[in-house]
Amino acid sequence: MADDSENRVWTLAQRPTGTPDDDCFELETRTIPTPAAGEALVRARYLSVDPYMRGRMRAGESYAEPWEVGAPLQGGVVGEVAEPNGTAFETGDLVVGNLAWADYAAAPAHELTPVDVGDLPVSTALGALGMPGRTAYFGTREVAKPQPGDTMVVSAAAGAVGSVVGQLAKMAGARVVGTAGSEEKVEWLHDLGFDAAINYRAQDDYDAALADVAPEGVDVYFDNVGGPITDAVFDHLNTDARVAVCGQIALYNAEERPTGPRKLGKLVETRARVEGFLVSDFSARFEAATADLRRWVTDGDLSYRETVTEGLERAPEAFLGLFEGENVGKQVVKVS
Ligand code: NDP
Repeated sequence: MADDSENRVWTLAQRPTGTPDDDCFELETRTIPTPAAGEALVRARYLSVDPYMRGRMRAGESYAEPWEVGAPLQGGVVGEVAEPNGTAFETGDLVVGNLAWADYAAAPAHELTPVDVGDLPVSTALGALGMPGRTAYFGTREVAKPQPGDTMVVSAAAGAVGSVVGQLAKMAGARVVGTAGSEEKVEWLHDLGFDAAINYRAQDDYDAALADVAPEGVDVYFDNVGGPITDAVFDHLNTDARVAVCGQIALYNAEERPTGPRKLGKLVETRARVEGFLVSDFSARFEAATADLRRWVTDGDLSYRETVTEGLERAPEAFLGLFEGENVGKQVVKVS
């Protein structure tokens, strides 16, 4: 924990080649920023590490702005207002925003949203009730659209997005199969009500494993990973299947762009539809989504888990762990 006069800030030390490592990150000690007019100073409680941040480490194209070498890393942070500085906030108000990976950050008041999690832990504003929860909400209901009787496969099913997707698909009446990278995760998916789950790390034949858990084929696929798992699922798509492409984490560390989706021929045969989406496409409806998610969690209809890494100094470790599958549910870092 920092003393009250210093501000620890993570910056991008260098851009990675392939899989990032500790050398990409530098923890600097800077002064606590003085908020300008219209800004508030926020003391971080939790910060979010997310797979999309790998794209921000690149200089080139990604759907989020690249992080600059030498500049603070940024992402979802929930914290308390330390200095309202004449904004409409009061000292101690809990807010969420896109802030530096730091003990303290200043941000324009209009970029800070009051935390609205009811009696739930504030960290849920970064997880089940935050960006990943909303991604699952819109991706499932507006893109994948599982129907009663459908068989739906969800990859990275024990992650922040996937675990919510599977539960929402169950609510919609689908039969839900998850893929995940450990026996512990598979057990949790069963606890969540998934009908079947595959520990892909224990399989040498994804095709046979899928045939076993989805003998009638796959009507809906919610793709978080891409790569070999997605290739295998495509071979099991049914006529008129729908594929919602949420993420491709298996490819994020690749230096070469893969040579295109490899199984498009399957779409001719099945007349399946593949649709990518970004959660930001639905920003006008975030408030309503968060209200639904909060109600479901509060009423016990939606479960979530968080993997909490203690200490701002361990933020890179938490981030890198996403690519090793070390998180169950939402990975957050507890700062204070
Ligand atoms: P998760 O909590 O799911 O964490 C990532 C998980 O991915 C890991 O725990 C790991 O689980 C799995 N994984 C890592 N590497 C591989 C690999 N090579 N092959 C297969 N699985 C792998 O992260 P999120 O829930 O935050 O994000 C899930 C996906 O959704 C990501 O692709 C992300 O980029 C995307 N996303 C997209 C959004 C959008 O707007 N479209 C918004 C938010 C997220 P395991 O042990 O199972 O391997």
